[in-house]
Order: sequence, then structure tokens, then C-alpha cells
Amino acid sequence: MAKKGFFAKLFNGFSEIDDDFYDELEEQLILGDIGVAATEELIDHLKAQVRSDKIKTTDDARALIMADIEEIMALPDGAYDFEKEKCVVMAIGVNGVGKTTCVGKLANLYKKDGSSVILVGADTFRAAAGDQLKIWAERSGCYIVSGNEGADPGSVLYDGASAAKARGADILLCDTAGRLHNKANLMKELAKLDKIINSTLPEYKKQNIIVLDAATGQNALNQARQFADIMKVDAVILTKMDGTAKGGIAVAITRELGVPVKYIGVGEGMEDIERFDAKRYVQELFAAE
Ligand code: GDP
Ligand code: MG
Repeated sequence: MAKKGFFAKLFNGFSEIDDDFYDELEEQLILGDIGVAATEELIDHLKAQVRSDKIKTTDDARALIMADIEEIMALPDGAYDFEKEKCVVMAIGVNGVGKTTCVGKLANLYKKDGSSVILVGADTFRAAAGDQLKIWAERSGCYIVSGNEGADPGSVLYDGASAAKARGADILLCDTAGRLHNKANLMKELAKLDKIINSTLPEYKKQNIIVLDAATGQNALNQARQFADIMKVDAVILTKMDGTAKGGIAVAITRELGVPVKYIGVGEGMEDIERFDAKRYVQELFAAE
């Protein structure tokens, strides 16, 4: 998970909850990518609790803030139900965030849990994307349908969906191209893909997962906003949590968009993906060094 404790030192040097303490707290939470809105909420709640005398020490303050962040990040009931049902999982997001890698890791995770998985390489925009996904398919032993460079993503998805139908696959896991420069085109493309899934696999649930690079901070939030604006986003995967101490962006995204983080990427290997654990996430953000 994240390098230990971005907020580890937050409470050092403060024995009292005074204005200096609040100032430092606000600055550090914002520096830690928690986001302005969530930071204000956390501090307002803390101030109210201090006034009502429920919170008296900086240790109490730390515990309160940790509990509040955990509440924001708590997964809704049934967050992983889709893993056990027939489902089309689409990985979306801009280039370089780790989509193809996540699709490869998820194929392995779902297969290990007993699901039959078919991979779809619908990123026909980048020449190497299909080959990259084929390597992951080999590693996890999953069947793959992928298109050549320049092929129509819709026809690749159609072939993948037909294969899923013929084989009765549990999960159709689809890698997509990370283009966002033209909103109207992207919307059209997504609507087309949706129609293909609905007509080929009407009984399958859908899970649109946006892949975001934790190390990019506010950019990740902006990307999430843009995708959520044009499509239903069901989950977030936050990648590269092994390389950043600033996993706080997860709070800003979940708080603003109401989309839960369901997985985190913690490396480049096949096993380097974890289902999200809010309690552990908060403990690691605040872990003492
Ligand atoms: P895509 O363009 O969104 O499909 O991104 P890729 O899956 O090709 O990944 C881009 C780079 O990020 C590759 O070098 C991956 O190995 C790397 N990467 C992906 N996820 C992680 C992660 O969780 N941790 C680390 N350290 N690197 C990752
Ligand atoms: Mg890719």
C-alpha cells in the first residue's frame, strides 16, 4: 500500500488544539491531496467536537479525523457483488495510468477466485496495447480477443462479447483506449460500446472502472470528473500506490464524485493489486514512522 504515513508527523509539536494547530492541519491535509472540500469538512467537524468538549487532546483529534476519513472511504454494501455475477468490466482512463496492467491483474484475481474470464483488447489506438494484454492473458491463462492497430473497438468488443456468450464466461474484462481529447466523439464511442454489450450480453451486469494514477494528485481528480461527466462510473482503481505517499487523492475523489475506490495497484507484478480496505488505508496514511 502507500508509503507509510504522509500524515505521520501531522500532530508532532502540538500539545494543544489551538489556531496554529488548525492552520497546520488544514495545510497538511490539502498538501496530502485530501482536497479543499473534504479538508474543510474534517476541520469543521473537529471544531464542533472541540466546542462540545468531546475532543480535548491532539490525540483525540487524530482519532476523530481518522474515523471521519474512514467513513468517507467505507465501501458500500455489495461493492464486490459484481465479481460473483456475470459481468462486463470496462477499464477506462487516460493513457499511462495503468489500465492494461490493471486488466491483466484483475484477470488473474478473478480467475483465482474461480471465475472464467475473457479479456478484450479494445485499445486499438496504441500499437503495442494488444500485445501487452496478450502477455497478461498468457500469464493468467485467460482467453483473449484483441484487435489490430486501427481496428474498430466496437467490432473487437463485439467479438469478445460473442466469445463470452458462446463460452458462458463469467467476466468479460475489457481494456480501452485512453482518449479524452474529444468529448463528443468519446461519448458516441462509449454509447456504441454500451449498445453492443446490451444487445450481445443483456443478462450481464456492468462495472465501469476508472483507472487513476495516485501520484498525479489533482490531475487524477480532474480525469475522474471528466469521465464521470459523460458516463456512469462505478468504481475507481488507484494505481501506483507503491510509489506515492500522497494517496490522499482517494478521499477527494470519493468525497466529490461518490464513487468508491475498490482496488489499489501496488506494483507492476501480477499479484500487485488489492481490494480496497478503508481502515487499513487510513491507518497507513497516519502510520507513525
Ligand atoms: P495504460 O496506458 O493506462 O494502459 O497504462 P499501462 O497499463 O500500460 O501502465 C503504464 C505503466 O505504469 C507501466 O509501466 C506499468 O508497469 C506501470 N504501472 C501500472 N500500475 C502500476 C502500479 O500499481 N505500480 C507501479 N509502480 N507501476 C504501475
Ligand atoms: Mg494500455
